[in-house]
Amino acid sequence: MTSKALPTLPILVENAATATFDCVYPTCGGKCCKQGRPPVEPGEIARIEANLAKFLPHLREKARKVVTERGFMTRREKHGLRMMAVSEGWCVFENQGCVLHKVGAKEGDRFKYKPWACATFPLDRLEKTDGWYVRQWKLHGEAWDLFCLNPKESKKPAVSTMQGEIEFAARLDSGKEAWRGGDVPKPAKKRKAAKKRATRK
Ligand code: SF4
Repeated sequence: MTSKALPTLPILVENAATATFDCVYPTCGGKCCKQGRPPVEPGEIARIEANLAKFLPHLREKARKVVTERGFMTRREKHGLRMMAVSEGWCVFENQGCVLHKVGAKEGDRFKYKPWACATFPLDRLEKTDGWYVRQWKLHGEAWDLFCLNPKESKKPAVSTMQGEIEFAARLDSGKEAWRGGDVPKPAKKRKAAKKRATRK
């Protein structure tokens, strides 16, 4: 990474000065959606369900069968949220890219149907602070050996290549994406206040 001054960011990114990342899709084949199973918020499930007819024609044949016969969500849970279904080893919404992303982009907002967990990738929330960090091999126990999370894979600063994801994370922090549901990542102060309110009830 070069020693150029960092751009001003709307969120705190712990490793802003060192993280590198460069999404090379479609060259990589979209490996981050292989066995995707992202956790999905209740509001996100409701929005996808309400718009399902838009997505179905674009799905792989087997994935469409899974979605129409069994639904696009499973009973498996991650962080207390239900996880998306998989067909032939890939997220049911993967078909040469994310169908939720492509339909949203055509309507002017690539993240409007995508679970926030996918829309922020590879950003993740830091547990005890108001910040975020860019996932990188071994950082904070990162176990996923996805090649693009290898900091040596690219020299491009993540804060330059991930502007859209960073802006989206700022929307999450500001509450503008609250329709998604209760577990949307909140800055630590808000999480603490919400916990206090809940224990008072
Ligand atoms: S919802 Fe879209 S981005 Fe997320 S895992 Fe599925 S195909 Fe990939």
